[in-house]
Amino acid sequence: MNKNTIQIQRTTSVNWHGKPYYSLDAYCKNTYGEKLYKVALNAGLSCPNRDGTLGKGGCIFCSAGGSGDFAAPIESMDSSSGNISERLEEAFRISQNALSGKKTGSRFIAYFQAYTNTYGPVPYLEKIYRAALSMPSAAGISIATRPDCLPRPVMELLIRLKKEYPDKFIWVELGLQTIHQPTASLIRRGYSLPCFDEGLCRLEQGDIPVIVHMILGLPGEDLSHMLASMDYLNTKNVQGVKLQLLHILKGTDLGTMWKKTPSGCGSFASPEEYLDTLIACLERLRPGIVIHRVTGDAPKSLLLFPLWSADKRFVLNSLHQEMKKRGSFQGKHFAG
Ligand code: SF4
Repeated sequence: MNKNTIQIQRTTSVNWHGKPYYSLDAYCKNTYGEKLYKVALNAGLSCPNRDGTLGKGGCIFCSAGGSGDFAAPIESMDSSSGNISERLEEAFRISQNALSGKKTGSRFIAYFQAYTNTYGPVPYLEKIYRAALSMPSAAGISIATRPDCLPRPVMELLIRLKKEYPDKFIWVELGLQTIHQPTASLIRRGYSLPCFDEGLCRLEQGDIPVIVHMILGLPGEDLSHMLASMDYLNTKNVQGVKLQLLHILKGTDLGTMWKKTPSGCGSFASPEEYLDTLIACLERLRPGIVIHRVTGDAPKSLLLFPLWSADKRFVLNSLHQEMKKRGSFQGKHFAG
């Protein structure tokens, strides 16, 4: 047992399966007895930041795919033909083939990823969630959305489905990105921090686990901003966090800004810079929070900056090596 393992065991009694942070894989192995793989889905929904309700341009970093460029299309609200279960089966088969050779479990997480997945007519939402929950190989569903898109009828639906499918889980993923209002305004997030708190509170009342998406390297933010965001999450009842670096993509407003003035657009010029920030954030986070992501997937055809981030395996391997070298681990500097 090395020094790092001893330190980790001082901070948590949960098995992290050899990683210096509590990864989603470790959580799934501990909770469901196996690694679960995520199948990203595009249910043909929209977003109030894109359909004109709050704005038409979307968040400045969001691609035309609604931050779900790899998500498999399964249904659209105006489509009357086709069987959604068959499309889900097909999406899972394709994912399984893509994963062949990798160590995964037998079940998957149906991840409603693209756009805002609670923003639509409740009967349609019920249809897509129910179709996924009914599949024997689905361990549960994870729904990516915004905190201002959790009205009472949607919450009632989630709570009802939770009771109807007691052996499946329902998670909600909320995009927060930053706690700082000037940055939130700059990226056109379209809701305030109190709105996030209110959404979180509704989900807590419904006993729905929450995963919060955070972006590292937003324009105008330095390490102190990002650590303040981590400290904030530590005080909240969140079960998981996704950390990802800012990708600057073609076809986005941020991409246009970057082409004019690259220096003011944030992100990280080198993997070393990103790893320093990422490790500092992991060290600050509460050890019990499950880390769902430490880097991001951007389509290579759309990625403008930083190009080094396209090699996800390299980023992950470098992170683990660097944390080991530094004797670093999640929660090392957790103040709570
Ligand atoms: S809330 Fe999500 S889907 Fe909507 S514009 Fe922002 S990143 Fe894109």
